[in-house]
Amino acid sequence: MQLHFVGTGSIFHDRLSASALVDGKILIDTPNGSVKAMRRAGIDPAAVDICLITHFHADHFFDIIFLLMEQGLVRRREREMVLIGPIGFAERVAHLFGISYPGTWEVVQPNLRPRFVEFGHKGGEWSGDGYRIQALPVEHTTPIAFGYLIADSAGTRLGYTGDTVLCPSVELLAATSHALTLDTSFLTSRAGHMGLDDVERIADAHPGLTLFPTHLGAEVTGSDRRNVVFPEDGQTFELGPGGSVAPVAAVLSTPATG
Ligand SMILES: [Zn+2]
Ligand SMILES: [Zn+2]
Repeated sequence: MQLHFVGTGSIFHDRLSASALVDGKILIDTPNGSVKAMRRAGIDPAAVDICLITHFHADHFFDIIFLLMEQGLVRRREREMVLIGPIGFAERVAHLFGISYPGTWEVVQPNLRPRFVEFGHKGGEWSGDGYRIQALPVEHTTPIAFGYLIADSAGTRLGYTGDTVLCPSVELLAATSHALTLDTSFLTSRAGHMGLDDVERIADAHPGLTLFPTHLGAEVTGSDRRNVVFPEDGQTFELGPGGSVAPVAAVLSTPATG
C-alpha cells in the first residue's frame, strides 16, 4: 500500500491542509489547494476513483469542486466514482456548485458517474476495488465526523483519524492499523483536536505501530518517540502487510517558468 501525503498542515500553517492519497486512487479529504498540489506532485487528479471525506469543514472539503471538475468537466469517466462521507455529502456538492459555478454540476454529473455513499452517526462500511473501507465515528466539532480504516487485499491496514479528540474510535484505529495518521493540531488537546501528548501516549501503548502526525499546528515540531514519523507535504511511504513502513524517494516536479 502506498501512502502519499498531499498536505500535512492545519489551517494557519504554511504546510498545505491535511489530505492523503492511497495507492494513487483513494483520496482522503479535499482541502483548499489539494488538487493543485496533486498536479504539482505529478499526480493526475482524474486517477482518483474513491474519495473519502472525514467531515465538511472547508480545510477538508472545499476542493471537492475542483476534483469533480477534473473528473467530469473536460473528461468522461468510464466507471463510477465512489464518494464516501457523512450524510449530506451529495447535497453539499450540489450546493457548492450552485453558489460557485451555477449549472456546472448538471454538466459534470453524467460524466462523473458519482456513487455517493453517505453514513450517519454510527459510520459504516464499503467494500470494492480490492479494498475494505470502514468509516468510524470520531468526536469533533461537526455533528458527524469520521476516521477511516482502509484495508487492501494483501492485508495492509491504514488508519486515518481526521479531525478528532482522543476517543474510542481512535483507540480502535490504533489497535487495528499497521500505520495510523493522526490529527496533531496542538501540543495538548483543544477545540476538538488531539494534542501531541495524545499521539505520544498512543505511540507508547502500541510500539509496533507507526504513527504519522498530520493536520499539524505551528507549535508541533517533532517527537522523541521512535515510532512517530513526521511526514512532509508531498512525501510518500510504502506500507507492507507486516507493518513495515519505508519512505519512497520523492518525485520532484519541475517548477513552471514564464
Ligand atoms: Zn475540522
Ligand atoms: Zn481541520
